[in-house]
Amino acid sequence: MTDPAAVLSLPKPGWATDDVAMLYDMARRFMEEEVAPRYDEFEKNGMVDRAVWEKAGEAGLLCASMPEAYGGAGGTYAHEAAIIDALGHVGVDGFGIVLHNAIVAPYILHYGSEEQKRNWLPRLASGELIGAIAMTEPGAGSDLQGVKSRARKDGNHYLVSGSKTFITNGQNANLIIVVTKTDAEKGAKGMSLIVVETDDADGFERGRNLDKIGMKANDTSELFFNDMRVPTANLLGHEEGQGFVQLMQQLPQERLLIGGQAIAMAERALAVTIDYVRERKAFGKAIIDFQNTQFKLAELKTEATVGRVFYNDCVARHVAGGLDPSTASMAKYWLSDLQGKVVDECLQLFGGYGYMNEYPIARMYRDARVQRIYGGTNEIMKLLIARSL
Ligand SMILES: Cc1cc2nc3c(=O)[nH]c(=O)nc-3n(C[C@H](O)[C@H](O)[C@H](O)COP(=O)(O)OP(=O)(O)OC[C@H]3O[C@@H](n4cnc5c(N)ncnc54)[C@H](O)[C@@H]3O)c2cc1C
Repeated sequence: MTDPAAVLSLPKPGWATDDVAMLYDMARRFMEEEVAPRYDEFEKNGMVDRAVWEKAGEAGLLCASMPEAYGGAGGTYAHEAAIIDALGHVGVDGFGIVLHNAIVAPYILHYGSEEQKRNWLPRLASGELIGAIAMTEPGAGSDLQGVKSRARKDGNHYLVSGSKTFITNGQNANLIIVVTKTDAEKGAKGMSLIVVETDDADGFERGRNLDKIGMKANDTSELFFNDMRVPTANLLGHEEGQGFVQLMQQLPQERLLIGGQAIAMAERALAVTIDYVRERKAFGKAIIDFQNTQFKLAELKTEATVGRVFYNDCVARHVAGGLDPSTASMAKYWLSDLQGKVVDECLQLFGGYGYMNEYPIARMYRDARVQRIYGGTNEIMKLLIARSL
């Protein structure tokens, strides 16, 4: 099979140092051996087995960018980028370790007290804890300041109440960062992030594992908090009211990683399509011999190359600490739009077979759609970019 990692004929990016490249190979082997063969089963169950999470932990794939002192592998965002590429190239993007590693764990690393870091990060690294972040509510998605979840103080506990929806890893997660209002009068300044551990917790309930059009191996769910008692020591940050600022600081990395997922999946779409059009025949010749096919694939390869070069530059800047939020928004919006285009046009080259679920391009088509929606919709990305003008 054409290698999705080589389909663009680009030199190795600067951020892919030897240890990052080794991690990519290891992560790719893990996904090929442990996840891909069972992926249909995971899609049917609507989630990846916990045992696979624990195996990923044993293999060193959880918390790759967390310091070794907290059980991580001591890497940087480049290591997470290698794992993102591996997931996309193998086509198992519903396995929610990217959110666990590169979204949930960094909140604890950046805002957690020493005690919180020692308590949670090693268990996130082993897979004993699976992470989720619960921002979205039925009445508040793009407009995050509109969250209605509350955390009321009761002695040295908070009573957390509210409903969340669309939460990635929602059935498997047992450590959830909940976006709440500790002061409903103060708008954004009243928002706080509170970490809840859900094992045997009263006042916490999981709702439906939602029936989606794609990303079916992920347990995107509803969550309900009904005066759940959480120690005040689980607040992230030194004081209440920091939640909105913390989210604004961390969302650029979330946006960059969605851009990474997008380009890796676009590369896989190109690879499987090149293989298909070489084999499939019509009018006595291979589909690749039609000039339309060649022009289409030439255009898509060109655009994917432009996208990969831009993404590589963003990763390098992010690792060096210099990626601004507006460029991260560009990566999320432009690369996920590109992914949608590449996958759609590749599917067309499969003809009717592209519409059949047994062909991988059909799954890629279903999985691609949400990339323009979550992590902040692409319309919200444009608003953020426009603010930098
Ligand atoms: C599969 C999946 C996984 C997800 N995982 C998570 C998760 O782990 N944690 C989490 O907290 N959330 C998660 N989400 C939620 C996701 O981030 C939200 O769905 C998204 O931010 C959009 O919010 P919304 O659905 O409420 O849409 P709305 O905010 O209602 O938007 C509807 C439409 O209006 C547009 N719109 C809204 N405001 C404006 C504006 N100011 N200007 C122009 N257009 C605007 C939007 O772009 C969109 O097209 C997930 C969603 C999905 C589908």
